[in-house]
Amino acid sequence: MDTFYSDINYLLEEVLKTNNPINQEIIDRVQNQLDNMKRFSESTNHYKEKFLFITSFVKYIEKYCLSKHVKIYGSFIRQVFEKIFLDSYDLSGYGDSENHDIDMCVFEDVKDYETKKSIFTNMIKNLNYLSELDKDFGITFEGFYLIKTQDLTIIEEEDRVVSRHNSMYPHELEKNDITQKYLNIPHYNMIFKKDNKYIIIELFAYPVNSILDDTTNNYDMDNDLDVNKLVLTTEGIKSHYNFFSTITSIIKRNAITNVKLNKIVKDLKEQILTFKEKNKLYNQLLQFIVYRTKILSVGYKSISSDFDLCDIEIELNEKCDLTESLPPYIKINLECKHCLSVMAIAGLTNIQTSEYTQMVSCPFCREKLVPKLKKIEIIKIDIPDNNLIETINDELNNKAEINNIENDELIDIPRYQQNEIMSKDNFLQVSQQIGIKTVEDININNNHESSVQTENYDYNEYNELNDEYVEYVEYDDPDMPPLVELN
Ligand SMILES: [Zn+2]
Repeated sequence: MDTFYSDINYLLEEVLKTNNPINQEIIDRVQNQLDNMKRFSESTNHYKEKFLFITSFVKYIEKYCLSKHVKIYGSFIRQVFEKIFLDSYDLSGYGDSENHDIDMCVFEDVKDYETKKSIFTNMIKNLNYLSELDKDFGITFEGFYLIKTQDLTIIEEEDRVVSRHNSMYPHELEKNDITQKYLNIPHYNMIFKKDNKYIIIELFAYPVNSILDDTTNNYDMDNDLDVNKLVLTTEGIKSHYNFFSTITSIIKRNAITNVKLNKIVKDLKEQILTFKEKNKLYNQLLQFIVYRTKILSVGYKSISSDFDLCDIEIELNEKCDLTESLPPYIKINLECKHCLSVMAIAGLTNIQTSEYTQMVSCPFCREKLVPKLKKIEIIKIDIPDNNLIETINDELNNKAEINNIENDELIDIPRYQQNEIMSKDNFLQVSQQIGIKTVEDININNNHESSVQTENYDYNEYNELNDEYVEYVEYDDPDMPPLVELN
């Protein structure tokens, strides 16, 4: 690849010497394309290295924590699939894992963690030591050195919610549903380095509890976007949605959510709620909008749902009049036809103006603050309708025209003849020629009925043999040397 780039560069320089102004344009285009190709292949290499690293790190954890439930989730797995559908580097970040961390959890659940807590703590202690060791000790995960670990566990301290890492310099966190969800789950941020490449791991001891309090459950707030629900486990990649639809979502760049925002809005409109209860619902709505719309900044075109979603806009130019925040930010269209930034709504719904009012209203018209809903239908997947096929068939039969239909299109069915690399016959022939035991010998020795007893072969010999074969078979050369020449 490197010589390819230098060859092209040489050609470009030569072309430039001709001093034709049109050439400069072409050169710029070629140069752009080349840069893109380079970034694309760098990103592929990054994936290879990340996966080798992940395998090494996961196996380390499995070994020391005796856990069979290590999981990798979040954007990384989504990006692996995105990458398959790209033919060039995508500036939006679609398919690019380079600038994202890897989310990982070790145990199946809190119970699993409690039984192995001490070995987990010990492993973290050792990783801390490792991060302080000099690079010269040469302890790496497939070439990546651990250079930093930070304890980011969220804890409660004297009625404040803080990250343990910052508890020396109190940096209070907001006490909200998210911090409550993560409270006390051991969470470590680890940075690994190889040359000038970094891998950042967000390691959690166990997954965030999916069963939240009742209000949250009512709205299925846990139903994240389908494309973000992919999880890599020891058993493969799992999806909490239908995996086949999720693949379509990734290809069509349309994420699907099943969160019932419509139900939240209905409750805000129709239920008699206290300010505190309303505050909770607005916060859930805002959190969903702020966190889930992130996907639109990494190459996705839309978010759709079987349920109605909030009608939102992204403000790119104007600052928010109410909060002075600078663009870009998300604005929500309201039923009263006014439009407010999420920051403004957060302000209005978190501060009770007086203890006598439970109202949350639009600052412009004083009407109830109710987000407008919008139907954004899920992109349909083409599935042939069996009833339709039957109806057509019936109709044709009734008309007795079926025999007259010239549907006998002549099709050349591609026949791919696969050369078996090591059929039983040629294996016997070759193994006899090079003097190793034959399958028959082994069978006789073992008094065994089965035709092949692979355990008794010298695998190295077998593989070497195989490799030599691959070369012949790949080219399917009619002049392929006869097998005897293997000697
Ligand atoms: Zn209004």
